[in-house]
Amino acid sequence: MARVAGAGAGAVDGTLPALPDGPAAMQVWQPAYIGVGSNLEHPQSRVLAAFAALAGIADTRLILTSPLYASRPFAPPAQPDYVNAVAGVLTRLGSAELLAQLKDIESRFGRPARHERWGPRVIDLDILVFGRERRQEPQLTLPHPGIVERNFVLYPLADIAPDLDVPGLGRVSELQGRLAPEGLERLPSTSA
Ligand code: ADP
Ligand code: MG
Repeated sequence: MARVAGAGAGAVDGTLPALPDGPAAMQVWQPAYIGVGSNLEHPQSRVLAAFAALAGIADTRLILTSPLYASRPFAPPAQPDYVNAVAGVLTRLGSAELLAQLKDIESRFGRPARHERWGPRVIDLDILVFGRERRQEPQLTLPHPGIVERNFVLYPLADIAPDLDVPGLGRVSELQGRLAPEGLERLPSTSA
């Protein structure tokens, strides 16, 4: 049986039976929000394919996907437009394990066999928020440090989680209200 948050598994007096072994007993289910972006050929299809890949991560359930947004890169100007979206998952992986899964998906998407080995990356998957977790390592910073200044993150995040309290930063709808939708265009859902 999966452990649930607040169940208090620690047996301080030694009288409680040990939790059963196995993945289901290792972690509680946590909500996490993942930013998805692509700016190479067919970026809309790539973002939708990334949603499907997220749905395939072990011990993880894809719960919500935002509408897709086209966004103009601010710099360098030669870059093609981006397509961005946000996915909401429930996972019983730890945050570092989830990041490893996202990097695995990125490498599967970004280095197809018929392209040059170090070709451009066609998908970017960032953990925006992972439960109430806060950490400040270069390999994994939570919440993601770019959230407050990126409209292409906050607008799709607000579509699926306006009331989410981003640890240390505040409510998504308030953060979104401080940022103009400049350069951002919501794409019709049928166009992908
Ligand atoms: P960016 O997303 O800023 O364009 P990359 O996708 O190349 O850049 O990520 C660079 C590194 O950022 C990754 O190797 C990863 O370990 C690290 N990183 C730190 N915090 C996060 C996070 N919250 N989500 C995803 N990657 C992160
Ligand atoms: Mg990234």
